[in-house]
Amino acid sequence: MTTSVKSVSVSFADLGLSEPTLAALHKMKFEKPSPIQAAFIPIAMSGSDCIGQAHTGTGKTAAFVLPLLERLDFGRPVVQALVLTPTRELSEQVAEECKRLSYSSQCKTVCIVGGRPVRAQIAELQKGVHVAVGTPGRVIDLIERQNLSLGDLQFVVLDEADRMLDIGFRPDIEKILRRCPEERQTLLLSATLPPPVERLANRYMKTPQKVDMSTNGIATKTVDQYYVTVDYDRKMETLRWLLLDQRPQQVLVFLRTKRGADELYRKFAGKLPNVAILHGDLAQSHRDRVMKQFRSGEVRMLIATDVVGRGIDISGISHIINYDIPEYCDDYVHRVGRTGRLSSDEKGYAFTFVTRDQGEQLTNIEIRINNMLPEYKIPNFESARPQAPRKTIHEVEGFSNR
Ligand code: AMP
Repeated sequence: MTTSVKSVSVSFADLGLSEPTLAALHKMKFEKPSPIQAAFIPIAMSGSDCIGQAHTGTGKTAAFVLPLLERLDFGRPVVQALVLTPTRELSEQVAEECKRLSYSSQCKTVCIVGGRPVRAQIAELQKGVHVAVGTPGRVIDLIERQNLSLGDLQFVVLDEADRMLDIGFRPDIEKILRRCPEERQTLLLSATLPPPVERLANRYMKTPQKVDMSTNGIATKTVDQYYVTVDYDRKMETLRWLLLDQRPQQVLVFLRTKRGADELYRKFAGKLPNVAILHGDLAQSHRDRVMKQFRSGEVRMLIATDVVGRGIDISGISHIINYDIPEYCDDYVHRVGRTGRLSSDEKGYAFTFVTRDQGEQLTNIEIRINNMLPEYKIPNFESARPQAPRKTIHEVEGFSNR
């Protein structure tokens, strides 16, 4: 069954949440459920397996955390819920949200991710926790060391399942799921539902209900999206002009490769203050420091690759710049979802640099988001030599004008 909610007139109380949870929501200033929350929470609370198609920025974390909190037995300090996410940063964000949403209850949450001292995580597990949030690698590590027992699990959440599969976590996820009790509830959240995610769901979920918020995502509504035609050898200059033109409050610049990100960072670091870089090869201590500085606003421009950039949830991000056009259309959706955040009243802006040979990739993105991106011309700057007009999406097979 597919549920699709266009507007939300229900309140959190209407969703059947308990008083302590309502108090936590009040404290967090969450006034009304987001569409994914209104649709997902009642299904998850009913005990059914559920697939939520929504990307970060739509309130999907609370959509799965709230039903867990309502149904955990806090009198038993054993791991009853396991949440798997693709990146350390996302695991930490989810664990944080879980702690904030359960501030008035007895719920204990541990975050088990690589790059952090394993001893502290083991100590927390030994003290007794109800919810474990982590990345698949470290979770397996702790299962194998017998520090994490899955015997009492009642809930498994696969967050950003598409990304976990993209970055090669399938064998680890399957290994973990095979060790989970048969009798459990499985929730899966994913921005997209490509066949590998469907296969995973078919194999490990029991007649899941589906909630599709993929096109109702807040991000696509509140983000002004443009492309900028660029010459390959003038991308850096174009970026400089665009920054001067836009003067972003905070900007996240996406590149495809770590090498490209390093190069751009080297060129910018000396010229602009408050610039930082984030990619998977950098030490965890560096990644933590950068995230902290970006969150506090000290870092204004963050240069990142997809894997680490996509989980970032910072309300101050006003601009996304796709310095390299994303390789996969779904990455576009994820990247752009970093701005126009639910908790922010400000509008977000996304600019995608497109070189003359990338017209087709741009069209594919437009088909994916079912929206035509207008071109942005930076005032007083010619970012590319003139080129032949490209096909419009209406001329391309596969585009539906909904
Ligand atoms: P998420 O999609 O889970 O990454 O959530 C995006 C941001 O929206 C986070 O900062 C959440 O704390 C916030 N948020 C989630 N649900 C609500 C809500 N109902 N009202 C206001 N903010 C929310």
